[in-house]
Amino acid sequence: MELIVARNREDLVKARGGGEVALVPTMGALHEGHKALIRQARARADHVVVSIFVNPLQFSPDEDFSRYPRTFEADLDACRAEGVDVVFHPAVEAMYAPDRQVSVSAGRMGAVVEGAARPGHFDGVLTVVLKLFNVVQPDRAVFGQKDAQQLALIRRMVADLDLPIEILDVPTVREPDGLALSSRNRFLSDDDRRVALALSRALRAGVAELTPSRIRAAAREVLDAAGSDLDVDYLVLADPATFAEVDDSYEGMAVLAVAARVGTTRLIDNVSVTLTRA
Ligand code: AMP
Repeated sequence: MELIVARNREDLVKARGGGEVALVPTMGALHEGHKALIRQARARADHVVVSIFVNPLQFSPDEDFSRYPRTFEADLDACRAEGVDVVFHPAVEAMYAPDRQVSVSAGRMGAVVEGAARPGHFDGVLTVVLKLFNVVQPDRAVFGQKDAQQLALIRRMVADLDLPIEILDVPTVREPDGLALSSRNRFLSDDDRRVALALSRALRAGVAELTPSRIRAAAREVLDAAGSDLDVDYLVLADPATFAEVDDSYEGMAVLAVAARVGTTRLIDNVSVTLTRA
């Protein structure tokens, strides 16, 4: 089957075959992490739609919207190789009317942790994801655990707004040395890349401990040791469903999440940790 490139809703309606559809929303610059999502989509549906859209709504004016990597031809090759049926690649103007008024609010949970560092970011994410859901009308959609708060908010949106879509998630794909794959990694110099390894190293040091305070302390120690080349935005141990910080009385799954700038590149990473009270 030829890969179909759809630019708008009409193209998508024409391209839609019978059977179940899985959507993989991306901003392009596809890497092995995206491919893992595509493989999960293929395994769980008859047709796979990959959207490639750098969403201006989720970038604040001081962020890297114009600099964000755009590698559309290579992305199409990757989608062909992975057996994707349709790539949905709308123009910004096709997604957002100049007079649009209504958008999704991510609520309180969208204003903590990553949302506190990037005000409005999750409103932009949820608005574009809901629009993609409405245009593509998938049965399932696949997201990465790499963006753990985003994943939790999408599950919350599906529950709160009764969206008839099953959300699937995929573990974070990493380089052999631990660095989480990201489209932004291409901006890292060799020196930056070495500094960036402190993120995954800190998370590993954290999960080796047993209590929230020791987990935070062990991870923080690794981040501090990276010195001033690593500009840490946050390190949190949070409830994965709400992103509220947990204390030493918490039991169950938690997420240890970090965000930091290396040079001009902002990176995020997280791992899950199971807490049992001693
Ligand atoms: P992005 O193109 O960065 O917006 O990411 C598109 C989707 O790919 C999101 O659901 C991300 O969580 C997911 N993703 C990004 N990087 C990775 C990774 N290293 N491993 C697994 N999923 C990822």
